[in-house]
Amino acid sequence: AKEAGRGQYRFFDQSLNLNKDVEEFHLEQAFAAALKNREFVLHYQPQVCLNTMRVTGYETLVRWQHPEFGLVYPDRFIPVAEKTGFVIPMGLEVIRLACAQLVQWRLDQVPVKTLAVNVSPIQLGRSEFCEQVRALVDEHCLEPGQLELEITETAILNDQAMANLHCLKEAGIRLSLDDFGTGYSGLAHLEAVPVDKLKIDRSLIASICNSHDDSPVVSSTIILAKRMKLQVVAEGVETPEQLVHLKVAGCDVAQGYHLGRPMPAGDVPEFIRNFHRLQESA
Ligand code: C2E
Ligand code: MG
Ligand code: MG
Ligand code: MG
Repeated sequence: AKEAGRGQYRFFDQSLNLNKDVEEFHLEQAFAAALKNREFVLHYQPQVCLNTMRVTGYETLVRWQHPEFGLVYPDRFIPVAEKTGFVIPMGLEVIRLACAQLVQWRLDQVPVKTLAVNVSPIQLGRSEFCEQVRALVDEHCLEPGQLELEITETAILNDQAMANLHCLKEAGIRLSLDDFGTGYSGLAHLEAVPVDKLKIDRSLIASICNSHDDSPVVSSTIILAKRMKLQVVAEGVETPEQLVHLKVAGCDVAQGYHLGRPMPAGDVPEFIRNFHRLQESA
């Protein structure tokens, strides 16, 4: 374990910055093997409708189940995967895994009908992306509306990305703007992007501090979303006070540790049962 710990430090700690090129070269090789060995796994975080307090869907979050280093979180490898281009095959594999999970849950009668998947700007910039996603939806006999793609503002500053977004939207796949409120492009592009949903970044939700203190930025963002006929999701909800404020402000959906942490697929059925039982008895 001591050895693995040292290895992990050398492998993943970029702040050391001893030899970044060597590190990235090793990572690239490790990525290819990881894809082949199916080491990328998805965890699922519930999204709750604030009107009914029922689980309405899940966001998929990729993890690298590394044979030596254990569970590696996306912030550790997505940036390098974007730099090397590996995020393209990996991202497609993530969408494939999400589609397969929806099929499995349908067979097992687990009430999860929609999954949201994060998409990198690098993927969205590829001309073949929309067709690949449509093919995966068709191959799994899913309704296109069962799949939602989460994109960020940085992704939309590019013509190919915009073409993909329109193609996906036309195919019936749902689109949501992730991390809203953190980008620097601000409101200028919002009207041009064909999204269905807006996810308020958790840094803004964190500004809802206590029972007396509503955040004017959050409540105005909710009003803005409504005016634009977008569904609005709050991410990073960590306290019951935040949840109450979001309900009062008219937010549609909430996601965060207070409602449920990301979990492996196997934990999802029991989580939903318990969550709904708890709400009914409340
Ligand atoms: P994101 O899409 O904004 O995902 C939300 C992140 O916030 C997740 O971290 C989640 O575990 C965390 N989170 C959820 N609720 C709370 C909360 O109440 N408090 C706090 N402090 N954190 C919360 P995670 O899983 O480490 O993912 C980080 C980022 O990695 C994601 O941010 C997303 O941008 C990226 N990512 C994840 N999966 C994929 C993927 O399959 N493809 C791509 N391209 N990026 C991915
Ligand atoms: Mg996301
Ligand atoms: Mg987010
Ligand atoms: Mg984020």
